[in-house]
Amino acid sequence: MAVLDQLTSQQAIDLENKYGAHNYHPLPVVLSKGEGVYVWDVEGKKYYDFLSAYSAVNQGHCHPKIVGAMVNQAQTLTLTSRAFYNDMLGRYEKFATEYFGFDKLLPMNTGAEAVETALKICRKWAYEIKGIEENEAQIIVCENNFHGRTTTIISFSSDSVARKNFGPFTKGFIKIEYDNLQALEEALESNDNIAGFMVEPIQGEAGVYVPSEGYLAAAKALCKKHNVLFIADEVQTGIARTGRLLATCGNCSCEDKNCSGSPEAKPDVLILGKALSGGAYPVSAVLANDGIMNVIEPGNHGSTFGGNPVAAAVAIAALEVVRDEKLAENADRLGKIFRQELAEFAKENELVSLVRGKGLLNAIVINDTEDSSTAWDICIKLRDNGLLAKPTHGNIIRFAPPLVMNEEELRDCIRIIKKTITEFEK
Ligand SMILES: *Cc1c(COP(=O)(O)O)cnc(C)c1O
Repeated sequence: MAVLDQLTSQQAIDLENKYGAHNYHPLPVVLSKGEGVYVWDVEGKKYYDFLSAYSAVNQGHCHPKIVGAMVNQAQTLTLTSRAFYNDMLGRYEKFATEYFGFDKLLPMNTGAEAVETALKICRKWAYEIKGIEENEAQIIVCENNFHGRTTTIISFSSDSVARKNFGPFTKGFIKIEYDNLQALEEALESNDNIAGFMVEPIQGEAGVYVPSEGYLAAAKALCKKHNVLFIADEVQTGIARTGRLLATCGNCSCEDKNCSGSPEAKPDVLILGKALSGGAYPVSAVLANDGIMNVIEPGNHGSTFGGNPVAAAVAIAALEVVRDEKLAENADRLGKIFRQELAEFAKENELVSLVRGKGLLNAIVINDTEDSSTAWDICIKLRDNGLLAKPTHGNIIRFAPPLVMNEEELRDCIRIIKKTITEFEK
């Protein structure tokens, strides 16, 4: 078989199985094309994408404006490294810092790299500004977090599969219960060496856990009181996914869905990735104000690809799409319809115990044991019926379509989901 011959799904799966490391367990579907809310498999079957590459493709697959910006920049200049200046990075940094309301941005490529960057900034700030003794800084994180896959990040993961046989682990992290302000307060009060508190505004990978109303704002206030950095990992929740530009800004009384400046829960350090490029290219970033970001000096941190001209052009286009197409408003409106419809359905259907989420980041909990294959089996049936979703943890199915979806398409998807689950019981 020549490398570029058309493959069947089975051939493509066999190739990955034989020649690729087995670090994922994909749903058996082989995609070869995407447009907007749709993807197609190699046999030409069309599906609604209800994962959006873990919320990277918020702007829809192959958005012409984003692809256009990428192709145009790729034909002009792709990489200089940061050894030299390029004429796109500064433009992007000005655009993105104004867009999100911070003084400065540090560009990286993947979400995990941005998390690592935030942790390094936080520690350096703790030693140089807060005055913690070197090597003593502690960062508070939450149980069942997901922040990526590096050795330091898995050091504070609760997921035994992600950790087993990857030790020794990085020190300097304290784990507390998510959505528990008392636990945060106790952790802050029991230790003078706390540098930061890093949290997901909604725990996505854990199963779309939405914290109690006011949790983030109160957590920020506690951090402020103890001179501790409030670090929000919005890699999955950010960029309109939860019905606001940022999930941390849904925690105040402000009604502006494109606002990111809500003082109540605005993070000191903001971590973005995934949809920052609309899924076209790996682009991530850490944003903070000067008083924090200026601890970083030449030689302290870097990345060959971070801040490259293609990434800069793509990110500007991706953020413009979010604003121009009012994706936050759309996610907010469609999310309410989705949860209302599925909550009704859950009342009369024994297999679905509940639906939860915010904006278009939602999940249903399947009424079965954690280790049952029911959620997976439902996802296989959803695939057969033209909709792609994947279980998160055990019996939870996440539903996160591209935010460019319209109401008619959403209602069609709700119909597919209800029909599939109803048939599944038989
Ligand atoms: C996906 C994700 C990451 C890691 O991003 P990668 O690009 O896969 O490294 C970090 N934090 C959160 C909340 C995520 O959802």
